[in-house]
Amino acid sequence: MIPVVRTKKALAVLVDGWRRKGLSVGFVPTMGALHPGHAALVRRAARENDKTIVSVFVNPLQFGPNEDYGRYPRALPADRKLVAAAGASAVYAPSVEEMYPKGFRTHVEVEGLSDLYCGRYRPGHFRGVATVVLKLFNQVQADRAYFGEKDWQQVRILETMIRDLDVGVVLVRVPIVREKDGLAMSSRNAYLSPAERRAAPALRRALEAGRKEARRPHSRLETVAAAVRHALAGTGLKLQYAAPLDGRLLAAAYLGKTRLIDNIRL
Ligand code: AMP
Repeated sequence: MIPVVRTKKALAVLVDGWRRKGLSVGFVPTMGALHPGHAALVRRAARENDKTIVSVFVNPLQFGPNEDYGRYPRALPADRKLVAAAGASAVYAPSVEEMYPKGFRTHVEVEGLSDLYCGRYRPGHFRGVATVVLKLFNQVQADRAYFGEKDWQQVRILETMIRDLDVGVVLVRVPIVREKDGLAMSSRNAYLSPAERRAAPALRRALEAGRKEARRPHSRLETVAAAVRHALAGTGLKLQYAAPLDGRLLAAAYLGKTRLIDNIRL
């Protein structure tokens, strides 16, 4: 079974050994509770690099005070098996104290983009994401890092951070992996009751309705959002926002207490 390293120091020893042999390193950051969407990132990384590190860290910095940090699913033994089968070389699972020792006070803010769309409803979320990802990049020293297009805004923010701060890692975008019925795979889908799970694919279908409206000659942002909202009527999903961002239509919706996000190409 592949090793699980818990400290920055142990990680550095492992990766330095690889680098000295001239091996390339791929990196897949995750919050664990892994599913086939994560496995696709790991397989891609393993294909394109000699060694692949998967981090599993539920980052408290990116959760709001009333969000699900405490109940976020944690499943390290199963995660370790899943990523080993997908070709990973090691798991990096630091503790919160290892990542944020007492006195931690530095944050990364990608201005503007962080406050829109999901950022508008999750203040501080993308600041927490950018901060932990830059720390992980510095700790892992990978050549390439793999991120899912499911979190489209996150990808755009991290690409901006990499460019603006001259980070020496190449970000690779990986397409969304979906369930058979179209629901984008997510660790948070585990929160859904059976009835909610049956309703959840409506989000993807509503995005398709929005895309249809977006392709009409006189469509506007408001008519596109209205088409998505209309398509969700009666499904139990409550739309938070639907908006285009560089060629994609993004949406977030609540299903009971669970927040779902998805996006499609316009
Ligand atoms: P998370 O553990 O949810 O923070 O996600 C870790 C990485 O996996 C992020 O880059 C996500 O975009 C990616 N990811 C999560 N779900 C999917 C999916 N269904 N398809 C593709 N990538 C995904």
